[in-house]
Amino acid sequence: MSDSFDVVIIGSGPAGYVCAIKCAQLGMNTAIVETWSDTKGKPVFGGTCLNVGCIPSKALLDSSHKFAEASDHFAAHGIGVGETSIDVAAMMKRKSKIVTQLTGGVSSLLQHNGVTVVQGTGKLMAARQVEVTSADGSKQVLSAENVVLASGSEPVTIPPAPTDDKVIVDSTGALTFDAVPERLGVIGAGVIGLELGSVWGRLGSDVVLFEALDTFLPMMDAQVSKEAAKVFKKQGLNIRLNALVTGTDVKGDAVTVTYTEKGETKTAEFDRLIVAVGRRPRTKDLFSTDSGVTTDERGFVFVNDYCATEAPGVWAIGDIVRGPMLAHKGSEEGVMVAERIHGKPVQLNYDCVPSIIYTHPEIAGVGKTEQELKAEGIDYKAGSFPFAAIGRALASGETDGFVKILADAKTDRVLGAHAIGPSAADLVQQMVITMEFGGSTEDLQLMVFGHPTMSEAVHEAALAVDGMAIHMPNRKKR
Ligand code: FAD
Ligand code: AMP
Repeated sequence: MSDSFDVVIIGSGPAGYVCAIKCAQLGMNTAIVETWSDTKGKPVFGGTCLNVGCIPSKALLDSSHKFAEASDHFAAHGIGVGETSIDVAAMMKRKSKIVTQLTGGVSSLLQHNGVTVVQGTGKLMAARQVEVTSADGSKQVLSAENVVLASGSEPVTIPPAPTDDKVIVDSTGALTFDAVPERLGVIGAGVIGLELGSVWGRLGSDVVLFEALDTFLPMMDAQVSKEAAKVFKKQGLNIRLNALVTGTDVKGDAVTVTYTEKGETKTAEFDRLIVAVGRRPRTKDLFSTDSGVTTDERGFVFVNDYCATEAPGVWAIGDIVRGPMLAHKGSEEGVMVAERIHGKPVQLNYDCVPSIIYTHPEIAGVGKTEQELKAEGIDYKAGSFPFAAIGRALASGETDGFVKILADAKTDRVLGAHAIGPSAADLVQQMVITMEFGGSTEDLQLMVFGHPTMSEAVHEAALAVDGMAIHMPNRKKR
């Protein structure tokens, strides 16, 4: 193997592997370095997303949703299934099969595109040299015209709740429980905590989520967060705001959690505790001090708007750089960097990165929230439409939630869109397209939406922005 490349990428998560494929498609001699290996010593591709993140969590969310449907909702349709039961081992086997299929798919794609795979831990040295250390300790050095750092992130741990991979687990451990815990505690009511809490709650766990902040889902539009809190309460998720976990005590198969809630110290006992308090960039030992790369105090690599680091020819993408820790954000950064290395100055529109929470109903948003528009003093108009008035939503018994659209008061250009409800993620994706094309609510108002579809809520919300919704009485506009 030659050890000189046009591009060397460190890390094969959704940021790194997409960047590698794109570089190869553009004709560049590309290598990817991956440290993760399976029990047979073979490299594991796909990073957090495919192995212990987006994909396995969605597999379990879908399994547990089907269980909840069969247990609680089929009867309303006249379908009797008798007593429902869950075979956790079978559910996990299905999840693992999906993961293997997808990680194997990435392996084939890298091979098909002629990307050189180098197994081991990569470290960027001076002058774009990448030192790779194999599992047996042997080292090789790759040199490259361009190096892309894409080493991803790992769960944050907190001193009051050290994980033991048995009773107290992180998000990875919560994807491999061998039985449904009777009492489940979750520290952190963020995206990951809510998704994992939902999985086990639907299967029968009594779930309590502890959230230190006094606001629920502060990054989402406040109206959506309020509706989400209402829906989750109805589903039986016990979300405790202003509840800071200060200690844990594991005895046998149970853990006592100490927390302060509104100034009062309390305790609660659980069979399993998930620590879901965020993720941190994996940048320790990723580069030498003379590489020219720098990070902030939290370990995020400094990059400009185009993911170039301070070292010439060195780029960084995905969870190790600023912005939301989302697979699709990293992948598109990977594409942008590949194009830029190849000489095309493409840009990524960071204002149009959608965020999604895959609970049921789904929660999604893109662009500005109403509270952001207010804080920034932007003159806006807002319209929302409830799924309760959408025929398709009624037909499928999915009437919780709404679509909300925010537009510039003068230009009518869409500035943000938020939804909670059936297919919220896909509906917000329609709004991503609208916003990317600089669309207005008038554009949406004059478009034909299929009937009966959930997307009629987008149409009606756009009409509601001007107080012109057809299928509900309109509030007087300000
Ligand atoms: P990673 O996916 O973390 O990949 C980094 C890779 O680099 C890994 O394979 C690692 O082994 C390798 N590596 C690290 N250091 C080195 C080194 N020195 N040398 C060689 N290789 C190295 N995001 C979404 O968009 N949608 C979701 O639904 C979603 N759900 C999630 C659910 C859970 C439970 C979790 C934990 C995360 C979820 N995420 C989701 C977040 C998403 O997984 C991450 O944003 C995404 O994986 C980041 O991609 P990345 O390529 O930057 O890093
Ligand atoms: P996210 O970053 O979206 O994954 O959410 C993690 C959440 O965990 C944040 O909202 C934090 O406020 C919360 N959190 C962090 N530490 C604690 C703690 N000790 N007790 C309760 N909540 C916490």
